[in-house]
Amino acid sequence: MKYVEPFREPERVRRAAATLAATCTRPWKIMEVCGGQTHAIARYAIDDLLPDSLKLVHGPGCPVCVTPVEVIAHAQLLSLKPDVTLCTFGDMLRVPGPGGDLVAVRARGADVRLVLSPLDAVEIARANPERQVVFFAVGFETTAPSSALSVELARRLELSNYSLLVAHVRVAPAMELLLSAPDNEVQGFLAAGHVCTIEGTSEYPALAARYRVPIVVTGFEPLDILLGVREVVRQLEAGQADVTNRYERAVKPDGNPLARAMVDRVFEVADVAWRGLGPVKRGGLKLRRELADFDATRVHGPIAAPMPEPTACRAAEVLRGRLEPIECQAFGRQCTPETPLGAPMVSTEGACAAYFRFRPGAARAGGRPARAVADRTGLDLAGKAR
Ligand code: SF4
Repeated sequence: MKYVEPFREPERVRRAAATLAATCTRPWKIMEVCGGQTHAIARYAIDDLLPDSLKLVHGPGCPVCVTPVEVIAHAQLLSLKPDVTLCTFGDMLRVPGPGGDLVAVRARGADVRLVLSPLDAVEIARANPERQVVFFAVGFETTAPSSALSVELARRLELSNYSLLVAHVRVAPAMELLLSAPDNEVQGFLAAGHVCTIEGTSEYPALAARYRVPIVVTGFEPLDILLGVREVVRQLEAGQADVTNRYERAVKPDGNPLARAMVDRVFEVADVAWRGLGPVKRGGLKLRRELADFDATRVHGPIAAPMPEPTACRAAEVLRGRLEPIECQAFGRQCTPETPLGAPMVSTEGACAAYFRFRPGAARAGGRPARAVADRTGLDLAGKAR
């Protein structure tokens, strides 16, 4: 397929790695803010292809991971109400909360259902008028349009038993929060390609200019990531701080105006808390006041006060790019995908899950750094023994 295979060709990837190495003359630290890219980096052992002076760090690119504990607790409490059916994506089911995860809550009798789309939740509400159906809406700008569509559909169907527990977050404000930290060490960003398919790139030029950081939009295949990193490094070496789109096959400068218009009809921008980051100004979405009938926090009661994080989990440092998952003492020991202490170990976009899955040497060693053993697809990008 022309959108995927050419971006996995080992020879092209090696050539990109070679030109990147030739471009990079100084130490640089670059962050990706997309869990899909984090998994691709681990899967293809892309950090093995980078010059030693170049450090890739993983940011808060996993929406499930940044959903605050109290919101997860609220979802669990709602699901235990006898007349409530709670629907959400599979990623959220295994995230630990105060009452265990949603799978455990379901085992205690709650009606928790996995859906592939919020439209499935609308259909459940339509077919079960005696049930109050709540969709736990988690995700970046990428999934917000489908949540918005579900509200518009429910309104058109005149459903009075459908509501959203909104946990949608916005990436650019979180990037700004990281950059504004006095001890920030991130010098350039790979921007999340899928978010930009909706949002376009208009939020980034002000950020790049204000903090003097290159921001390069890129995709999810090995060549995408290497070309994105190479462009960030080229700009850093040249003293530039521009916004560049290296994912032209999917991202247009103005994104998807139709999807954005639908999101704007249903949601407004809000200050929200991110797990691991704290309050993020304009960092999320909430339902518009005129759609309060579809807001689960108004229909079923408000979310409780912020709750403390489990002490053993260092997800906050992982999400800020301050700690590699394998540097967490619990990684591969107390914390595994079977016994997760934090969301990054179970989400399909979590950094800890990526390291556990694609770096089995590190996992077996109980968290000690080990060479990546990646890419089960048969590609051997670095030409190293697998
Ligand atoms: S390895 Fe587990 S305990 Fe450690 S930061 Fe990741 S999720 Fe938390």
